[in-house]
Amino acid sequence: MENAFADRITDVPRSFIREILKVTIDASIISFAGGLPNRLYFPVQGLQQAAHDVFAEAGADALQYANTEGFPGLRQWIADRYRQKEGLDIPIEDILITTGSQQGLDLLGKTFLNEGDDLVIEEPGYLGAIQAFALYRPRFHPVPVAEGGMDIGALTRVMEERRPKLLYTVTNFQNPCGISYSDDNRRAVAELVRGTGCLIIQDDPYGDLRFTGSRRLSFKRLLPAQTVLLGSFSKTVAPSLRIGWLVAPPPIMDKLVIAKQAADLHTNALAQRILHRFLTDNDLDAHIATIIRAYGRQKEAMIAAIRDHFPAGVQCTDPEGGMFLWVTLPEGMSSMALFDAAIRKKVAFVPGTPFYVDRKDSNTLRLNFSCSDEPTIVEGIRRLGTSIKELS
Ligand code: PMP
Repeated sequence: MENAFADRITDVPRSFIREILKVTIDASIISFAGGLPNRLYFPVQGLQQAAHDVFAEAGADALQYANTEGFPGLRQWIADRYRQKEGLDIPIEDILITTGSQQGLDLLGKTFLNEGDDLVIEEPGYLGAIQAFALYRPRFHPVPVAEGGMDIGALTRVMEERRPKLLYTVTNFQNPCGISYSDDNRRAVAELVRGTGCLIIQDDPYGDLRFTGSRRLSFKRLLPAQTVLLGSFSKTVAPSLRIGWLVAPPPIMDKLVIAKQAADLHTNALAQRILHRFLTDNDLDAHIATIIRAYGRQKEAMIAAIRDHFPAGVQCTDPEGGMFLWVTLPEGMSSMALFDAAIRKKVAFVPGTPFYVDRKDSNTLRLNFSCSDEPTIVEGIRRLGTSIKELS
């Protein structure tokens, strides 16, 4: 059977995180490994009521096949929000509803990448993007990111030497690092890309989850014709809906619609109607404010516990939003070895390795703070601190 599979699938490893999550099913383990939004804040009643109202009002129409681009009311809601929050004027024709923003990544890969095409990705970068693009067998060019954004020197070299087709960024509260690009860094990236054949993919599932600071410049404003935006309701409403969106100018949209038709005809139309009804009848910003209050407190608890319990020489990012922070262990310490030691102390995290396209080990790791309450965070970080000291 091994010979039967296409090269594109045999070359792509299973999601390392899914493998890790199997270990953390044990309820006695404190897990900072997952990337899940906190279930406490899923709007169960609001969605239940919305579902009831959709069936009462649309009946059988809610169960019919629908158009590929997505439910017009939902696309209009997204366009209105871009205008209100970011001052961006986006016609609804430029908005495609996708089956999660993850599908947006796959559709972009399908539409743009021939085997061997050059693609810039953040290092460390979102594992799901590495996996989605890897199926199209591009050449990855990792460009380091740190507090403040991309390494402009490294990006300059890649842009000159490789002329990449795509540049993938998570500019706000990045997964896995929690870092955000400053406005100056965004401008510098945009200037390097301007006028080249490269398209910036700005993936922004966390942008609304900001605890401190103010909204930054969108690449859509800096470089409108060369930017594709990806958005998602997974972190602000609920991930099981599998509803995200993609914003692209008309020539690109035409091709993406073909790719989407071939993939799934359209995103679950019932879920789109229910979500639209929910968004119309509820105050999403008030809901988001509740999530932010909790995640912000949890992040503060994690940072304080890290200061208290991690040895000197261990560094971490201090995100302005989102769900993750990133820890750098002393040079030469293996986060894979730490993972094994930590599991024995019943605490889990994701070692940094899968967030790089070409490493077997690293001295970095990702911690999720959205899913644990503050006492659990303090206890988990204490255990992790003990494991680090023992390994030192
Ligand atoms: N992009 C990034 C950066 C993410 O962290 C995630 C979720 N982990 C996704 C895309 C996919 O989200 P969804 O498909 O649920 O919208």
